[in-house]
Amino acid sequence: MHPNQLIDSHRHQGMRRQLMLQLRDKGIKDLRVLEAMNLIPRHYFFDPGFVEHAYQDKAFPIDAGQTISQPYTVARQTELLELKPTDKVLEIGTGSGYQCAVLCAMGIKTYSIEYIEVLHRKAGLMLDYMGYHPTLFLGDGSKGIPLYAPFSKILVTAGAPTIPQLLINQLTIGGLLVIPIGDQKQQRMFRFRKLANGQVEQEDHGAFSFVPLVGQQGWR
Ligand code: SAH
Repeated sequence: MHPNQLIDSHRHQGMRRQLMLQLRDKGIKDLRVLEAMNLIPRHYFFDPGFVEHAYQDKAFPIDAGQTISQPYTVARQTELLELKPTDKVLEIGTGSGYQCAVLCAMGIKTYSIEYIEVLHRKAGLMLDYMGYHPTLFLGDGSKGIPLYAPFSKILVTAGAPTIPQLLINQLTIGGLLVIPIGDQKQQRMFRFRKLANGQVEQEDHGAFSFVPLVGQQGWR
């Protein structure tokens, strides 16, 4: 990595504040989310040469044909998790590690799993460099991580074809699953809440576009 990339200059900080104001104008209300995102130099997660793109509100290619989610999407998914300091969160799709850094900056105990080894490795190095220490796994997160369950919140950052029942099973009572579900191009953002009687409450939070969730409960 080019050493200049890991400088968080006043210029970067200024662009980042502008981006936070844009996100607020687009409807993000949870200030804790915006404050955490304002702390994370998103350009650290970009390849050198593309740093200029880091503070625009758009998704961007990372390695292995995957993407770093659009800032608005990260903010919205994080807001939908209704995070509390006592939460134990599982993120499925570590990707660049940016969303994971935002969760860590909010002081949340974070587990994150990635299917593609190079992404898992690079994200781990960057998070470590930034002083964040989430528990990272390499493997198929569509099945959740039974050994570490239950989680109070589960966040899926890739588009699923159906509701993965295995993920609902790994939620605590009162827990939330935030997951885009649809076809391989467009999905609706669903939030599922696991109720005490074993039933699941469902809300639709609008159209989004993610790379496909692969694996056992994903696209095969
Ligand atoms: N949260 C990421 C977004 C990455 S895009 C970020 O902030 O950068 C979605 C990621 O999900 C991709 O890296 C993809 O490889 C990963 N993915 C897809 N299916 C998966 C699965 N079954 N288990 C774990 N990761 C998966």
